[in-house]
Amino acid sequence: MSVNQQAHTGPPYGQPQPGYPGFQQPAYGAQTLPAVPQSQYGAYNGPVPGYQQPVPPQGSLRAPPTSGAPPPASGASHPSGHLAYSQFEHGDVQNGIPASAAPMQRPPASQPFLPGSAPTPVSQISTFQQYGPPPASVQQLRNHMAGMTIGSTAASAPPPAGLGYGVGPSSYPPSTAAPRPPAMAGPALPGQTVAGPPSSQPNHVSSPPPPPPPSTMAGLHPGPPISGLHGPPPPTHPPQPGYQMQQNGSFGQMRGPQPNYGGAYPGPPNYGSPPGPPPPPKRLDPDSIPSPQLNELPPQQKPRHRIDPDAIPSPIQVIEDDRNNRGSEPFVTGVRGQVPPLVTTNFLVKDQGNASPRYIRCTSYNIPCTSDMAKQSQVPLAAVIKPLAALPPEEALPYLVDHGESGPVRCNRCKAYMCPFMQFIEGGRRFQCCFCSCVTEVPPHYFQHLDHTGKRVDFYDRPELSLGSYEFLATVDYCKNNKFPSPPAFIFMIDVSYNAVKSGLVRLICEELKSLLDYLPREGNMEESAIRVGFVTYNKVLHFYNVKSSLAQPQMMVVSDVADMFVPLLDGFLVNVSESRTVIASLLDQIPEMFADTRETETVFAPVIQAGLEALKAAECAGKLFIFHTSLPIAEAPGKLKNRDDRKLINTDKEKTLFQPQTSFYNNLAKDCVAQGCCVDLFLFPNQYLDVATLGVVPYQTGGSIYKYAYFQLETDQYRFLNDLRRDVQKEVGFDAVMRVRTSTGIRATDFFGAFYMSNTTDVEMAGLDCDKTITVEFKHDDKLSEDSGALLQCALLYTSCAGQRRLRIHNLSLNCCTQLADLYRNCETDTLINYLAKYAYRGVLSSPVKTVRDSLINQCAQILACYRKNCASPSSAGQLILPECMKLLPVYLNCVLKSDVLQPGPEVTTDDRAYIRQLVTSMDVAETNVFFYPRLLPLTKADVDSDSLPAAIRNSEERLSKGDIYLLENGLNIFVWVGVSVQQGLIQNLFGVSSFSQISNALSTLPVLENPFSKKVRSIVDMLQGQRSRYMKLIVVKQEDKLEMLFRHFLVEDKSLSGGASYVDFLCHMHKEIRQLLS
Ligand SMILES: [Zn+2]
Repeated sequence: MSVNQQAHTGPPYGQPQPGYPGFQQPAYGAQTLPAVPQSQYGAYNGPVPGYQQPVPPQGSLRAPPTSGAPPPASGASHPSGHLAYSQFEHGDVQNGIPASAAPMQRPPASQPFLPGSAPTPVSQISTFQQYGPPPASVQQLRNHMAGMTIGSTAASAPPPAGLGYGVGPSSYPPSTAAPRPPAMAGPALPGQTVAGPPSSQPNHVSSPPPPPPPSTMAGLHPGPPISGLHGPPPPTHPPQPGYQMQQNGSFGQMRGPQPNYGGAYPGPPNYGSPPGPPPPPKRLDPDSIPSPQLNELPPQQKPRHRIDPDAIPSPIQVIEDDRNNRGSEPFVTGVRGQVPPLVTTNFLVKDQGNASPRYIRCTSYNIPCTSDMAKQSQVPLAAVIKPLAALPPEEALPYLVDHGESGPVRCNRCKAYMCPFMQFIEGGRRFQCCFCSCVTEVPPHYFQHLDHTGKRVDFYDRPELSLGSYEFLATVDYCKNNKFPSPPAFIFMIDVSYNAVKSGLVRLICEELKSLLDYLPREGNMEESAIRVGFVTYNKVLHFYNVKSSLAQPQMMVVSDVADMFVPLLDGFLVNVSESRTVIASLLDQIPEMFADTRETETVFAPVIQAGLEALKAAECAGKLFIFHTSLPIAEAPGKLKNRDDRKLINTDKEKTLFQPQTSFYNNLAKDCVAQGCCVDLFLFPNQYLDVATLGVVPYQTGGSIYKYAYFQLETDQYRFLNDLRRDVQKEVGFDAVMRVRTSTGIRATDFFGAFYMSNTTDVEMAGLDCDKTITVEFKHDDKLSEDSGALLQCALLYTSCAGQRRLRIHNLSLNCCTQLADLYRNCETDTLINYLAKYAYRGVLSSPVKTVRDSLINQCAQILACYRKNCASPSSAGQLILPECMKLLPVYLNCVLKSDVLQPGPEVTTDDRAYIRQLVTSMDVAETNVFFYPRLLPLTKADVDSDSLPAAIRNSEERLSKGDIYLLENGLNIFVWVGVSVQQGLIQNLFGVSSFSQISNALSTLPVLENPFSKKVRSIVDMLQGQRSRYMKLIVVKQEDKLEMLFRHFLVEDKSLSGGASYVDFLCHMHKEIRQLLS
């Protein structure tokens, strides 16, 4: 290798900085379309086997239909620059997907959900279910699907929770003849006295019905009230004697003080306030599981739990019920305002005019008509959007629509894209915008006649008229500098300082890249990826490599002046993998040898990003930097950092500084990166504090990812790291992306959460956006909404594909609007609400003390629940906690957010961990936040080795663990395998290959491969879970009573936590108190 030590002489390539003028729309030129390869998307109208056209094809989309009288061509308007939106009159006309007269709502839990009563699309839509499966070629195209397992997950019900809460709604006798309970009727709590059909409910203070026998309701005895704990006795509604029939999800007898029960409130009143010293760890004693007998004791003798844990809403039960009720039928998106199944339910989606919940989920599907109502309820109105979400193979990818040189048809005023909700008028010559009501001429090439119902006759031929999600091929007007983009580039930038070399990391990365480079993202049927690659190594200085195919050996160029970074070579730096294969292979062989004896421990960081950015600028393309970094960058250079970690700041007003970057240098760098479409993915391998809060700024603002492998050890961590790297390199990603969310008049997007950059108040800019990233958008009223027209969202994402094709991905969603608060509460989605609240809180810690953030979260949720109680629930004793059916898990999930490492760190959580988690959660989708905050706990010893199903999950509490069993707990980042002390030897032998409990190594990072059914079953479960997550989870084996068990217990989120977090039961009591205070 020839080494060209080059002194800094200033940038040799003084090309003008590409501006970023937005996406202006000048006059249409005679631009030819770029020579992009065949799209991976099936032509919408092409020869698609299995796709039946209800209407004869009207010709290809590229050649607009010529039949029909052309409309008056009065200056077909060009789209011009984006306008502000939502400042126009109310649009009250729609066609396309009609608003259902009887909007589908999530059934009240007290009503069985009958498949037969599932939403049937209104007749207008029901005629086109023929999209059917996409052509096989389309289905097979995206290899990232492989990572998404749709296998069945545990359909079997958990063992009946026994005493109180165990009975799901499905156990009610299904009787279609039974009158629906009143609209606001939440569930009568299963297991309570509701045994009869729902029709018995109105008279809900009744004598105990015959079934079930009183003993099965032990947990809800009027006895042990939570006396003396909170607040005065209810003056107006004295407790009812006997069993109360309750509606509205009430449960438990949380009443005022009662004589004979003077127990002090034992819970740690540590909800919003800083944690006190951690209590001594509880010894895990499976025998402490409450037995039924315990609950049958007279109240006075019951020791601690005034509330039976089985009598409070169970996440497991809710998940199970939704699976049973909604998992078997496809979710058809033809009806406005439908609440989709939960993220934990496996279901298929059929797009009939609204975007799939895989792309957009909302906190509520029925929005209050006025801002006063919205304020009163305090329910945040937000959508969690994952524009490039991966789909299961059974679902069709969005069709790509090509309107040729004229580009997509848009509203003249608000620039909304053609969608199913636009109303065609005047015989089809004009259309009225569903967002701003403006009337726009239909361009001649897009004209089509209307049928007798006013619908275009090509309705079913055009994805943009009949589907919720689709793509447009963008014209050159949507490209920077009015030039079609070049294919993107990947630059691999490897830290070769002492730690990285010594740990074996450098060698590992180089070995892996040799094969991984053959799996760069490809588009469609392309034989090879269009992505070019480049290589940099660095410590205190940077080494660039010329890997031009004509060279016999790679050449190294060293830039030692890192103060003003430049790229010392252009030709030969970014290359095509197959052309330069031998030179690249030679380089990757040589790098570990070259630095094998390095003594350099110091690194730079910002210049590394600058180098990548400059290289992309010089090549005039977007791209991604993969940076592998090990330490705090203390070497003299721009962006140099100092160690400012200080745990003493926790619970002080200065705690927020731990989450803030220590210099604004990286914010400015991020801005430059976004302007160039330079996305940064950062792989960190720290042995000590390296300031994730600062190093993460550029990855975060460019839409990139951060991966962290603390104390990286080759033996235990390489598999996880390599899996993450492979997935990260191969996954679907768009570059140079801009997202805009348009809304119909009355609401408007006001706030955004996620990994992106914003230079104005409406456009979300991302240098890169991959299939795992979500953006959460909050909406506020700026006018009244109407129940008739509902509310519409249109998310438009402009991006460059991995082959350099400029595209627009459009997602549309229609929501209902209500004048009754009960309708809001009945159509909420708690998982999405928690996603929003967590992101809101995690952003809050940047500017407010953590205690303030926690307090305001509690306060907001108490207001949400108090508003329901006050306005929607039927009158009942103030001592009862009444929760809306759709939000009955809000307290338990909220408590998990409050106890999370960011908001209430335990002693073992580092500052870097917290900054890392904070950034990670901000981009999570709803499924990820769900399992992250309430982990999945599976009893492995209950698994059926002969079936594909998972064992039924159990609740996250120590009380649920038996010392004779083995459990798996996963939260999306970790998998714990917990082994009880009394597990049979045979099971230990079968799973770990050792003969006794004491011989199990807790250093295992994978389970041994053993040829027996139990081992195979457990490993297949682990593999399946790994396949469902966007990151490879770290596997940790925990033995009961071992010191590692502390770590595991942290995830038993229904229990009191070591850091002072409340148990579920205690928190529920606290919430109840807060609600009562608000109501009094
Ligand atoms: Zn408009």
